[in-house]
Amino acid sequence: MSIDYERIGLKVGLEVHQQLNVGAKLFCDCKPELFKDQPEIVFLRRLRPTQSELGQVDPAAYFEFQKGTKILYEANSATSCLVEMDEEPPHPLNMEAVEIVLTVAVLMKAKPIDEIQVMRKTVIDGSNTTGFQRTCVIALNGQINVGEKVIPIQHASLEEDAARKTGDEEDNVTRYRIDRLGIPLIEVATAPAIRSPKEAEEVAFAIGGILRATGKVMRGLGSIRQDLNVSIRDGALVEIKGVQELELISLAVEYEIQRQLKLIEIREELGRRGAKEEEVKEEFIDVTKVFEQTKCKVIRKALDKNQRVLAVRLPRFRDLLKQELLPDIRFGTEVADRARFWGRVGGIFHTDEMPAFGVTKEEVEALRQVTTADEQDAVVFVADRLENARDSLKAVVERSQEAIRGVPEETRSANPDGTTRYMRPRPGAARMYPETDIPPTQVTEELLSRIKSNLPEVPEQKLERLVEEYKLNQKLAKQIIDSEHCRLFETIVKESNVSPTAVAVFLTETMKSLKRNGVRVERVSENRIEEIFRSIDSGELVKESMPEIVRWLSEHENKSVAEAVTDTGLKMITREELERTVDEVLKANEDLVEEIGMNALGALMSAMMRKVRGKAKVEVVSELLRERLEAQGTRKQQRK
Ligand SMILES: [Zn+2]
Repeated sequence: MSIDYERIGLKVGLEVHQQLNVGAKLFCDCKPELFKDQPEIVFLRRLRPTQSELGQVDPAAYFEFQKGTKILYEANSATSCLVEMDEEPPHPLNMEAVEIVLTVAVLMKAKPIDEIQVMRKTVIDGSNTTGFQRTCVIALNGQINVGEKVIPIQHASLEEDAARKTGDEEDNVTRYRIDRLGIPLIEVATAPAIRSPKEAEEVAFAIGGILRATGKVMRGLGSIRQDLNVSIRDGALVEIKGVQELELISLAVEYEIQRQLKLIEIREELGRRGAKEEEVKEEFIDVTKVFEQTKCKVIRKALDKNQRVLAVRLPRFRDLLKQELLPDIRFGTEVADRARFWGRVGGIFHTDEMPAFGVTKEEVEALRQVTTADEQDAVVFVADRLENARDSLKAVVERSQEAIRGVPEETRSANPDGTTRYMRPRPGAARMYPETDIPPTQVTEELLSRIKSNLPEVPEQKLERLVEEYKLNQKLAKQIIDSEHCRLFETIVKESNVSPTAVAVFLTETMKSLKRNGVRVERVSENRIEEIFRSIDSGELVKESMPEIVRWLSEHENKSVAEAVTDTGLKMITREELERTVDEVLKANEDLVEEIGMNALGALMSAMMRKVRGKAKVEVVSELLRERLEAQGTRKQQRK
């Protein structure tokens, strides 16, 4: 089904966040790196909502606080100091990071502000030890060209990355690693001027190209994250957080459109059925008795712990919970996600999926009777501690009332397959207040003119140059610019004898197809890739073996190309070995050679390549065979 995006009033805005590679963090000198080993330092904190000067606290944050969440922070001394631990005030703003954002701003024709004021943005999920994220606007109101269209840029900002979550433990303890905390991030936000999923992706690539042009962005998975603001007419503004790959953007937008259209269909169906918000009530009925003898394991386990089963009737909702919104995501999944978030429960049951999970037809009948549900109604029930069960059903009621109104505004997080899950309500406004520990930074005329006279090559200029200088075709040149490997491409081409086109194809198409086949190419560093090309130049490796070597390296981090070559058996054989193999093949095909002479070359080539594929260059094998055949032919002539 093709969707007319104009007709449905699609509007998309994009926020691109990318880590900057400036050798230090934003507010201290720690290394902007992640560590893998055991932490040297571990400390426990309890969440506390910092009252902003405006007296406002994010409801989602406050809720986390109410749950009594504790955070276990892990650190090591190379990547964190007292600043990240919130034991020491932040140092002055990292000026190299400021200069990079100013460079991007100038390239995007945005207007730099005169004085940079660092602000605090309340974040109380524990991902910041301070309870807020530091952020500062660097420039406003720019624009970029994407194809024929001009996309307005609202702002370019600089902010600190958050700690990374490494796990959830028992008893409301969440584990975070603070190595990532404080890594400088550039944020570029577009106006909601994007009108199709494909355009969203093109805009993201265009912004990515400009960021990479600075030569100062980090690469690899997790270094770039996109947030999408998607709305359609009659739907709602939904914020999708953390799309990690540019290639997923158009799919994520398409899915969100589909989700909202399906929710609108559900609203219309509820309207036809005469469903009313005020009829969906917070009337929770204790149905524990119904399940006294149950064979359902989840409920049995809860009852054994003296927990209760609570149920709520959703008037006129029958069969709507099983409506599929996205692949594997039903309306019931959305309701369950809400229940899990607000009720700390593992999951919910609903009558649309019954009888199942050990719940019998009789139990469902009894459940319907006790809750006075009729033919058209659905019943949602949950087994847990009374308080949790009640909170989760409250969330179920709220989500169901929203379904009668249509699409709720919310923040959702992106899954790796492009679908999304409920994350939290959309945060209210006024979450920002000034950071008093850092004095404002002046953006002087002198600084700006220095930046303007040192602007890097923008993607359009680069495209022209790649075509001109390396004779790449337009498509390949564009692909190499859109990839993360443009600099690597130029380095290799300068050092290596491999043709520029072959290098470009390898860095774009070959890498992409390896990735599609599940090879984690991001684990293979640029240094390793350079090494691969050096091995080809030195004759240790043939081009055809490169994919196999990349696959091996992705599975053996910190190993060298030489080790890969040995372990995969793809090492080139010596001239002597090759000649020996030719002798063998000639001997095995003596009769054929006797009979048809030079015409046996094709058959002999196939036989040879079966033995030495990936270990010898095709040209060399062919040349050697031809020489031998000719020599034999001459001998034969002489014998006659
Ligand atoms: Zn530090």
